[in-house]
Amino acid sequence: MAQRIDGKAVSAKVRAAVAQEVAALKERGVTPGLAVVIVGDDPASRIYVNNKKKACQATGIHSEEYALPASTTQEELLALVDQLNHKKDIHGILVQSPLPKGLDEGAVVEAIDPQKDVDAFHAYNVGKIMIGDYHFLPCTPAGIMELLKAYEISVEGKRCVVIGRSNIVGKPMAMLLLHQNGTVTICHSRTKDLPEVTRQADILVSAVGKSHFVTANMVKPGAVVIDVGMNRDENGKLCGDVDFDTVEPLASFITPVPGGVGPMTIAMLLKNTVTAAKLQNQLL
Ligand code: NAP
Repeated sequence: MAQRIDGKAVSAKVRAAVAQEVAALKERGVTPGLAVVIVGDDPASRIYVNNKKKACQATGIHSEEYALPASTTQEELLALVDQLNHKKDIHGILVQSPLPKGLDEGAVVEAIDPQKDVDAFHAYNVGKIMIGDYHFLPCTPAGIMELLKAYEISVEGKRCVVIGRSNIVGKPMAMLLLHQNGTVTICHSRTKDLPEVTRQADILVSAVGKSHFVTANMVKPGAVVIDVGMNRDENGKLCGDVDFDTVEPLASFITPVPGGVGPMTIAMLLKNTVTAAKLQNQLL
């Protein structure tokens, strides 16, 4: 039976470390500040934004929310980003995704000052990550690396398979595993014989977005299984991509949903905001 990876416990440790760093920075006259921009009234986005605000408060990070109506134009949104780029008490800018139809998310991300890009989605930061010389890592993959570290799971020399190739999860995840000397394969919707590929994985990361997607026949006995998925099952209950009940007995470690990868994402956002504050105050 797999050991369950406790994302809540690890994220609590990361948050405690962040709170200490914030306190130390405040003594030096720097209060890390995060601006969260939300456009429209997507209920899931509203929950994420509220959670981010609460997490900032709990760690002493100054946070500002900019809630704009769904009718906001691209020009208005870009003007706000520009204003925040120049705001001295704001070190991190996060524009909550998804944006309402008609707004160009890519252009908004590119307008954020790379030094304030705490999501690490800007092409400059993506390039830095590729090279392996970076300040920020995207929060979800960074959180997964933190979980592996906390459970002393070494990546070096391991066969790692990532299912999913999005810019926010799959691709950076693969890159971080590669930086840790894993042998990495990225799978996607056009991958042939997916179970055959995933069965080779010592470390299997699923970032697909489909419940019960990863079944027991796709998992090598003893594999580490990391579930990024956040889906609703037939009963409307939050679940991951992994068919947990059948995979748990096979794996060596497994992340549950909820309580696995999810709590790490916000913790890493806080960490990135502190890094941004240090970077902008020449304290790195
Ligand atoms: P996404 O952009 O929709 O990407 C999904 C990926 O899965 C795509 O690369 C897609 O391949 C691949 N895929 C779809 N069907 C497949 C199949 N049958 N076989 C193999 N690959 C398949 O999603 P995302 O933004 O990366 O998010 C993935 C999941 O993680 C979602 O459930 C999301 O809610 C969750 N998530 C969780 C957190 C967290 O904090 N826990 C953070 C971010 C995302 P193609 O590229 O070929 O289409």
